[in-house]
Amino acid sequence: MKISNNIQKIKSTLPNHISLIAVSKTKPNSDLLEAYDSGQRIFGENKIQDMSKKWDSLPKDIEWHMIGHVQTNKVKYMAPFVSLIHTVDSLKLIIEINKQALKNNRIIDCLIQIRIAEEETKFGLPENQLEDLLESVIALKSIKIRGLMGMASFTSDDLKVRSEFNKLSKLFNKIKKKYSNLDILSMGMSSDYAIAIEEGSTMIRVGSKIFGERN
Ligand SMILES: *Cc1c(COP(=O)(O)O)cnc(C)c1O
Repeated sequence: MKISNNIQKIKSTLPNHISLIAVSKTKPNSDLLEAYDSGQRIFGENKIQDMSKKWDSLPKDIEWHMIGHVQTNKVKYMAPFVSLIHTVDSLKLIIEINKQALKNNRIIDCLIQIRIAEEETKFGLPENQLEDLLESVIALKSIKIRGLMGMASFTSDDLKVRSEFNKLSKLFNKIKKKYSNLDILSMGMSSDYAIAIEEGSTMIRVGSKIFGERN
């Protein structure tokens, strides 16, 4: 009951236009099913192999979102079913996703992950390379870029987190003027989603606040 209570509690505070991704990485199927039974249909995983196993054994109306770093040679394992890839940050990866989507007769929705945190460890595309990347995708028919994703620095300094989200939100609004079909801004996790929503997020990725701490 705890998981479904957590979901209901979070949902009751969310504005209607926000999608909630339940980040279920490392968690057993029984936990995902409890979330499913309370109405949750979108789950986020960070390893393609784990996501494929869960997809195999859980109900087929679940939408699976890839939120972890993607290795090009593994795209083929998720291409048959993934609903949204949040972590696209190179043309090489885009070309592979397009190829595997075509093989599966699908169009795969993706977000470009932008590097907004000052920390060096985070993946993502530098902001100034975004337009070039978007231009190169236009010709590809089996991949659709839906928006941007970003992760703020891991810090208790709310002002810093807010300013990083604000920067991404400004970039999103600027780029939307030219590419009007962009409609998703994925930012915010358990510790910072309230700030992310204030700064313009449309999609939050929440793990520990739903499922409890990971080991
Ligand atoms: C693990 C993870 C989350 C969820 O983190 P919590 O702090 O548990 O909410 C969100 N986004 C990404 C990219 C993650 O890897």
